[in-house]
Amino acid sequence: MKKPVYLDYAATTPVDPAVAEEMIKYLTPDGFFGNPASRSHGFGWQAEAAVEAARGQVASLIHADPREIVWTSGATESDNLAIKGAVAGRDKAHIITSVIEHKAVVDTCKWLEARGVEVTWLEPGSDGVIQPQQVFDALKPETILVSLMLVNNELGCVTDISTIGAELRARGVLFHVDAAQAAGKIAVDVATMPVDLMSLSGHKVYGPKGVGALYVRRSPDVRIEAQIHGGGHERGMRSGTLPTHQVVGMGKAFAISELGLVDEIRKLEALRAEFLGGLEGLSGVSLNGSETCRVPGIMNLSFEGVDAESLMLGLRQLAVSSGSACASATIEPSYVLRGIGLSEELAHRALRFSIGRFTTSEEIAFASAQIVDVVTRLRAVR
Ligand SMILES: *Cc1c(COP(=O)(O)O)cnc(C)c1O
Repeated sequence: MKKPVYLDYAATTPVDPAVAEEMIKYLTPDGFFGNPASRSHGFGWQAEAAVEAARGQVASLIHADPREIVWTSGATESDNLAIKGAVAGRDKAHIITSVIEHKAVVDTCKWLEARGVEVTWLEPGSDGVIQPQQVFDALKPETILVSLMLVNNELGCVTDISTIGAELRARGVLFHVDAAQAAGKIAVDVATMPVDLMSLSGHKVYGPKGVGALYVRRSPDVRIEAQIHGGGHERGMRSGTLPTHQVVGMGKAFAISELGLVDEIRKLEALRAEFLGGLEGLSGVSLNGSETCRVPGIMNLSFEGVDAESLMLGLRQLAVSSGSACASATIEPSYVLRGIGLSEELAHRALRFSIGRFTTSEEIAFASAQIVDVVTRLRAVR
């Protein structure tokens, strides 16, 4: 069978071949395999130099100082470190987040909530956007942290981080932003965005899985407590021997993204238009989430009269995501779609199509024709 067309870039991206080529240099006996923390020989120094160069590349994409980048195992760990690390040691704490955050934030906040931290769960409008005023209205004297994502991974909608951050800064409340789906997709600039902590992931940006970073602002100085203790690496915030090849891969991936960002956005906008254009002949298709405030690469669509499970079965030649978590035997509709007020029925009819760097016009034409065909067929046999 022909390989399916990959339309699940929001779940993960393939590693850019230029990234893989760079990574292999840091693994083998003839390469720079040393422990970056080894101070007594050149193997260590070379690995350390590579780690620091990569730190600079990741910092550069978001306009941070390299000293503000802490390496982690991925955005999940970054989210945990940011939120638990900010709350640690406070006896009375209130945090604000939303019901459509990634599970890495939702479950971390629930874990804290079960341990006595007060959590306010904001609900977005039907467009999937949290309004700044909602955040301001939820602030209390005990509020120490607000955690909101920059780009939602299921809907692609974008949060107004700048407006929210400016007010939080004035009130002395920490602001954590999960930017795993934003880096490399839209301009992210911590020099102008008043954000204190920002989670990043390697594998959403054509880097390897298993590596990420947490941006921790230096001015004004942000203090978080380590969640993993050991050799005191990463200025005491995250211990553990750094995976040089992973770190170098993430650095290279971020450098490639920075260089090509404007062209990539333009390309994805064009492919998006081709994809949606290809579905125009089909009635009863609705886009979930904001039409205007979004990234081009993520399209969450509901198909009237067709449930996502049957549609996915029909679309075996496309690799897409239903947004539903198939935990146990029952298929739960996406909590994000429920979070924007979609009925259970409509949430069951949604599929997420996400495109990226290696998506071609031919694949888009094939995909949209397949969808039209399968939806039409499924509706005919209803
Ligand atoms: C993928 C993703 C994560 C988790 O990142 P990992 O690096 O896979 O741990 C967190 N937040 C968002 C918004 C994501 O899309």
